[in-house]
Order: sequence, then structure tokens, then C-alpha cells
Amino acid sequence: MIPVNSVLQVGQFPEVMQAVIDQRITPVHLLDPNSPIPAGSYQSILIRSNTKLPIGLIERLPQIGMVATCGVGYDNLPMEHLKQKGIKASNTPGVLNDAVCELAIGMMLGLLRRIPEAHEFVKSTAWSNGLFTVTTTLAGKCVGIAGMGRIGQDLAKRLEPFKVKIAYTGPSRKDLPYDYYPDIKALARVSDVLILACPASPETDKMINAEVLDALGPKGYLVNIARGSVVDEGALLVALQQKKIAGAALDVFENEPNPNPEFLNIDNVLLTPHIGSATSETRQLMTNLAIDNLEAFYNQQPLLTEVKN
Ligand code: NAP
Repeated sequence: MIPVNSVLQVGQFPEVMQAVIDQRITPVHLLDPNSPIPAGSYQSILIRSNTKLPIGLIERLPQIGMVATCGVGYDNLPMEHLKQKGIKASNTPGVLNDAVCELAIGMMLGLLRRIPEAHEFVKSTAWSNGLFTVTTTLAGKCVGIAGMGRIGQDLAKRLEPFKVKIAYTGPSRKDLPYDYYPDIKALARVSDVLILACPASPETDKMINAEVLDALGPKGYLVNIARGSVVDEGALLVALQQKKIAGAALDVFENEPNPNPEFLNIDNVLLTPHIGSATSETRQLMTNLAIDNLEAFYNQQPLLTEVKN
């Protein structure tokens, strides 16, 4: 049982998530993490992975013992600080793989087959004046995955029926039937489509730079469903403008929800507003898992999906 008013819910949650929360618990709301905290005695925080949890907020809440984030990425949590204070953290891995993989594949196919432009072509009646451009087939290509974790591996399994070769990079080689490249540049060189599925971290910060994009080459496509910080957006914009790569499908950006406006004026991109996990089924699963973690904390049980780093 989670005591009424003992959870501080930080930030705005979509309706479908709020409905699950309101069915299961009674939190106190703090819409803006930097605004004054409503009086109360909170033992835990519920937050979304797209909302930054400021250290200042934790400092003002000495009784907090746990932070549950709805999302798998925890780059918006001050993990070092939480660890120092002995505050536990949980995330929602696994339950969002299906939705994220479906979006990644949809974006990849949309980009190669230029589906959004084809849709506009029909809607604008341009078809009556001529034929739509020919595009690119996925079959026979090599898809490189940077980050062969939960999402990366689910993605690879889904890609197999598309008759592609699969390769990957990451800190460790896995026991998987795909070619492993220890280095992102080497992976980019062999990839026709490079999909990013790694976490945001100091090691992955701007990992996709001008050199990697050059290695991907003028026939290569980039798909980013990881985090905006993984890509050097300045280098990507140059690569797209100068056709050093064929195109990019981006679900995540350095500056959300206001991505660099230069992306809006380029035609070889497919842009989505960070919707990898944004299906109602998945968002309900994520919210339930976050609350299950809170319940475990209040019952003094091990967390179901604790972030340990
Ligand atoms: P995960 O299971 O932890 O997998 C991450 C993988 O990335 C691991 O295999 C890890 O390698 C690898 N990795 C770490 N550093 C790397 C590097 N420098 N280069 C290449 N690979 C590296 O996490 P997940 O559940 O698959 O989620 C992955 C990420 O997807 C999340 O962190 C999140 O940022 C993003 N995501 C985005 C959305 C969206 O809406 N677009 C939704 C969900 C998740 P090891 O196995 O060797 O440690």
C-alpha cells in the first residue's frame, strides 16, 4: 500500500499515464520541478524520463528514499547525487521495446521509401502531373545497430525477415549471430542504415560525429531512436545539407521540444517528436511498472527494475 500524498509526482504526464496513476495512487503534483514544493512529507518521487530532476529539488526533500522514472533512459536523473544520498532509483526497461522497435522500423522504411513525401505527393495532387521518384530497397542492405541491448536485440530479431545483414557495436561482444565491430566508425563504414539504440552517457556524447557520418557515406542512412546527445547535430546538419549521407530519421533531439530549426528546412529527413514509447498500451505498461517499483519500495522489498550504476 502506498500512503496517500507520500509520492511527489514531478512534471506533466500524458492523460493515459495519469489515468493509471490516479487509479493506483494519490500523489501530490509538482508540475514544474523548479517551482515551490507543496507542503507535505514525501518519501518518493514519480517522474518521466523526459523531465530533468534537479539536484536542488532533492536537496529540499530530505525524506526522499526513492525516485521512479517512467522510461528506460535515466540520463535526466542525477544518479551520482542519488547514490551519495542513498536514494534508490527505478526505470521501466523491457516493456517499451515493442513500441520503440516498431517506430524504429517504421522510420527506417519511411525514410528509405520516402513515405511521408509520397503521402504528400498524393494529397497535393502532384501525382496527376507526373510520377513519384524511385526510392531505395532495404533488402540486401547492411543494418548496423549501435547499442545491442534490450531494444537493439529486439530490433535485430525483427529485422531478420527483412533479408538484411545485421552488424553491431557496443562496449562488449554478445553471443549473437551478427557481425561485431568494436568501433562505431568501422560499423558505420559497413552499414547502409545505422540505427542508434544506445544510452545517453559521457561515452556516447556526440559519438556520431563528422568522421562517423563520412564513414556512413552518401548512400548511408542514420536512424536515431536513442537520445539527441548521441549525435553531433551540427555535423549531422552539414552532412545532410551537403548530401554526405543520404538521409536521417530522428525521433530524438538535443533540444526537445524545440529542435534546431535547420532540421525543418531539409528534405532528406524524417522527424518525429520523441514518440518511441508513445503508444497507449506501452505507456500504461510503463506507468504500472513504475508504480510496482514504488510499491516494492514502500513494502521494503527489492525494486523490480532498479537502476544500478
Ligand atoms: P540497454 O538494454 O541498457 O541497452 C543499451 C545498449 O547500449 C547496451 O547493450 C550497451 O552495451 C550499449 N552501449 C553502451 N555504451 C555504448 C557505446 N558507447 N556505443 C554503443 N553501444 C553502447 O537499454 P535499452 O533498454 O535497450 O534502451 C536503450 C536506449 O534507448 C535508452 O537508454 C534510451 O535512451 C533509448 N530509448 C529511447 C526511446 C524513445 O522514445 N526514442 C524509448 C526508449 C529508450 P553493453 O551491453 O555492452 O553494456
